[in-house]
Amino acid sequence: MNQQNMKDWLILANERIQEQKDYLSELDRAIGDGDHGVNMARGFQEVSNKLATQEFTDIGAMLQQVAMTLIGKVGGASGPLYGTAFLKASTALKGKGECTNIDLANALNEALKGIKLRGKAEIGEKTMVDVWEPVVSKWLDNPEAGMDELIEFTHECMVETKAMEAKKGRAAYLGKRSIGTFDPGAVSSELLFSSLFTVLKG
Ligand code: ADP
Ligand code: MG
Ligand code: MG
Repeated sequence: MNQQNMKDWLILANERIQEQKDYLSELDRAIGDGDHGVNMARGFQEVSNKLATQEFTDIGAMLQQVAMTLIGKVGGASGPLYGTAFLKASTALKGKGECTNIDLANALNEALKGIKLRGKAEIGEKTMVDVWEPVVSKWLDNPEAGMDELIEFTHECMVETKAMEAKKGRAAYLGKRSIGTFDPGAVSSELLFSSLFTVLKG
């Protein structure tokens, strides 16, 4: 993956987030405060604008800018979590003009560690971690996995959050009533990963 692929990823992710903005907010209305689509759409539109107009020395520097933009623009619980994720990934890819899929999977594993450290969520607690952790593990275990297989697996992980009871974030206040809805952050994470795997497919 080179700088252009990385840009393509984030621009595609933004397009999908804009398309799914109302859906993300609708999910968050069911088990949270209804702003996840608005938060993500605001943050990723700004990311897309910055990537279209700025030059970067390397992919680490690009991801650092993405992190800062998300921290500044998304807000809520998800802004600092996605911001931390991109900051950790940027550190892992610092100074690199391009990277292999293995480098990227490792960087995303650092990102996942950042999300878990900051949000203290573990697998099964109905958060974005329920997409991040299994997807990153699967990719690390098998860096040669096909992109279509990874896209399908990512979707399955997102779907599994429906049956979970939220233990972290606003949805946790609902207890058992949080069961029966996809987690909004798991859905936005699916959009991010499926955009990435789509771009890597070429
Ligand atoms: P807020 O809940 O502050 O309005 P958002 O609606 O933007 O923030 O984001 C909600 C999403 O953030 C949830 O669906 C969940 O995936 C994720 N989330 C919330 N708290 C945590 C946490 N502690 N760890 C991981 N993810 C979390
Ligand atoms: Mg919300
Ligand atoms: Mg909110």
